[in-house]
Amino acid sequence: MDFINGESLLALCAAENMTISQAMLRREMILGETTREAVYEKLARSIQIMKDSTHNPIETPVTSMGGLLGGESKAVWQSAFGAKSPQPAPLCGTTLSKAIAYAMAVLEVNASMGLIVAAPTAGSSGVIPGTILSICEDYGLGEDAIYEGILNASAVGYIIMRNASVSGAEAGCQAEVGAASAMAASAAAQLLGGSPQVCLQAASMALSNLLGLVCDPIAGLVESPCQSRNAIGVSNAFTSAQLALAGVKHPIPFDEMVDAMYKVGLSLPFELRETALGGCAGTPTGCQLCTSCIH
Ligand code: SF4
Repeated sequence: MDFINGESLLALCAAENMTISQAMLRREMILGETTREAVYEKLARSIQIMKDSTHNPIETPVTSMGGLLGGESKAVWQSAFGAKSPQPAPLCGTTLSKAIAYAMAVLEVNASMGLIVAAPTAGSSGVIPGTILSICEDYGLGEDAIYEGILNASAVGYIIMRNASVSGAEAGCQAEVGAASAMAASAAAQLLGGSPQVCLQAASMALSNLLGLVCDPIAGLVESPCQSRNAIGVSNAFTSAQLALAGVKHPIPFDEMVDAMYKVGLSLPFELRETALGGCAGTPTGCQLCTSCIH
């Protein structure tokens, strides 16, 4: 009944004719000894937090504790949808532009000590709500689809956590934003009609696209480059889902991609695993910002 990796998840879905969301819901109910209603009740709280954190900073910008963030999501929103927005559409298109603004908004909430859903972590918390909420809104999919998207993403996240890591300190940003992007890509693929196989193709592609991405938060704060990494995580999820839905195959199965991501992460030098000693954080400007943020 349970699944421990992508292969067993696909086998379960095929045997029971289920979507990934249905498999995850059943897992929650059986292992948690609970009901569908109880699972949905908990999800409802998370979804409300996701809605608030994606929308509020676009209305009312907040400044982060370290001072590196504040107002970026509103700026992106206005550049895409404001009076002077490019015609006929924003450069990234309407749904992706919305998803990017939403994802960046969540990072502003997080960095100002507001309430977010760490899905799978605080640093990568914009990718999943940005992707799922924008798609559900723009494609008129309704409230049930949001639950299905989150459940689908949860299954992928659980597999990555079980077999690898979602920690930037352990395996770099590829494990945080990369995992979030894989989760979101799988959810997006299901929301747009993809089979479980297509979902994991999308997830595999998303992981491979961010393979090797280092964790290098300036001044050790989850602000920058974290916010723009969430925008990239969303963009990667959209692209990976679209490729998988079009039938483009990724040659590496999801489980092997998860293993590869973990091995790459463990081989990263410690300077590039959330110590704020390398990458963006280790540049002269990054070091300067470190001093001004701390004092
Ligand atoms: S750079 Fe590090 S802290 Fe920032 S989102 Fe990536 S993994 Fe998280």
